[in-house]
Amino acid sequence: MKFDIIVIGSGLGGLECGAMLSKEGFNVCVLEKHSVIGGCLQSFHRRGQILDTGIHYVGSLDEGGILRQYFKYFGIWDKLKMKRLDENGFDVIYSGGKEYKYPMGYSSFKEQMAEYFPDSKTEISNYIDKVQEVNRLIGVEQLKMGKISQGGLDYFSVSADQTINSLVSNKELRNVLAGNISLFAGDRSVSTFYHHAMIHGSNIEGAYRFIDGSQQLADALVDVIRQNGGKVISSSEVTKIAVDEGRITHVEVNNGEEEYFADTFISNLHPLSTYKLIEKNKLTKKAYITRLSALKNSYGLFTAYLLMKPDSFPYFNYNLYLHDIEDAWYTTAYPNDTKVRFILMSSLAASRNPKYSDVITLLSPMYFNEVSQWAGSVCMKRGEEYELFKAKKVAEMIEMTERFSPGLSSNIQFTYSASPLTYLDYTGAPEGSAYGLIKDYKNPLLTLFPPRTKYENLLLTGQNLNVHGAVGVTLTATLTCAEILGEEYLAKKIGNL
Ligand SMILES: Cc1cc2nc3c(=O)[nH]c(=O)nc-3n(C[C@H](O)[C@H](O)[C@H](O)COP(=O)(O)OP(=O)(O)OC[C@H]3O[C@@H](n4cnc5c(N)ncnc54)[C@H](O)[C@@H]3O)c2cc1C
Repeated sequence: MKFDIIVIGSGLGGLECGAMLSKEGFNVCVLEKHSVIGGCLQSFHRRGQILDTGIHYVGSLDEGGILRQYFKYFGIWDKLKMKRLDENGFDVIYSGGKEYKYPMGYSSFKEQMAEYFPDSKTEISNYIDKVQEVNRLIGVEQLKMGKISQGGLDYFSVSADQTINSLVSNKELRNVLAGNISLFAGDRSVSTFYHHAMIHGSNIEGAYRFIDGSQQLADALVDVIRQNGGKVISSSEVTKIAVDEGRITHVEVNNGEEEYFADTFISNLHPLSTYKLIEKNKLTKKAYITRLSALKNSYGLFTAYLLMKPDSFPYFNYNLYLHDIEDAWYTTAYPNDTKVRFILMSSLAASRNPKYSDVITLLSPMYFNEVSQWAGSVCMKRGEEYELFKAKKVAEMIEMTERFSPGLSSNIQFTYSASPLTYLDYTGAPEGSAYGLIKDYKNPLLTLFPPRTKYENLLLTGQNLNVHGAVGVTLTATLTCAEILGEEYLAKKIGNL
């Protein structure tokens, strides 16, 4: 079969590339190894409830927000069922025994923080101005001027922790501002200010939750591709990328079951996974694969799904960030110390029961070494020891959450869980990493990847290149497509709707 463009992987990045390019008249085919499309957008069912794999909330969705602009461009904004989180506290940070709300809107954020920390009013204002500055680099105004993103390397090459510390002197306030660390796999030794500020700012610019699961976003993008004549084919694992004289000729699916030809190929996979699929040839040296293998991935997230007794626990329209120790940051020492010290608690929004939480998710960072002894085992058949490990972790997380939310545990009916091994199986992310390759402020150029590769007709996309999350992956998909369509043309088309 021959197409203009083949996209390998149907994560958010792959589907967005497929949607943009099919809208622009290309004959596109997206190949996905799983039976369900969407990667981290997948939702699944347990006991009749909808559970989400990854994305729990998304930013920049208020009017004028960059992600809303993209969703409008795709023609899917009106089709998505989304709930705006609480204006006065979309995130609530529990730190040092106190509760701090993050309100939406930069001015409201400044005012609320100044109420908590009246002596730090000017410092808070300076910090928020910097966060806003980073978000302006990717705003709708940039698109209108023909740019997808205006630089930002200055912010990629400075530490998030050190920048916050240089702007803010109060120790508790520093912790509160870094309180949502799981959103960017916050690790003091590597995290860039760009990642912290972009993700934090995008939520301040309008944080929303999906009603009835994030799968709908994947499904809506699939509809766009199909309506424009493209194909999305599941249960089709790309097992080989074939090369001839520096050009990709075709991909093999399911170990040679089928071959798909195209003029251009886009890989939504981790760069290491992509390069491992390329057949041996002169362009990819062994040393390059060794270098890619040496790059570190972010920690994973262990997810506990709590299925609550019917109508027992009120729905909460915000996310809770629970910190058990006074330092919000993770450090390189933690992989050897597996205590649960941080939890992100979230309620799924269900249209059939808007007043109560049917499902509550608890997420906590987990390094791969905690589960590596079971690597290579098959999902659902990993053995009793693994099940015991997961049950103990879930119990520890419930015990910690109960201290912040008394009464929670007596209302739980069933629990399910997913470890980095589950994510490895369901998204292919090496080591079940939540956000892929770590971007290290000390060496940004080594850890940031451009969409272009050494192969003239192979492009990359997805969370590993630049910034993860719904906003980051969308911008990267646009950068990838701009390699084919031209940046100015594409940016202006999206910006001037
Ligand atoms: C637990 C968790 C919580 C998160 N929460 C949020 C959140 O609240 N908000 C937010 O904005 N972001 C969140 N994220 C991050 C966000 O989900 C990701 O950054 C984003 O969805 C990644 O998209 P992607 O396109 O890069 O790749 P992925 O979603 O990883 O998709 C890659 C796809 O490629 C497929 N694939 C792999 N190998 C092959 C092959 N050989 N052939 C064919 N297909 C293949 C996979 O099956 C998968 O479908 C979360 C992530 C996790 C893990």
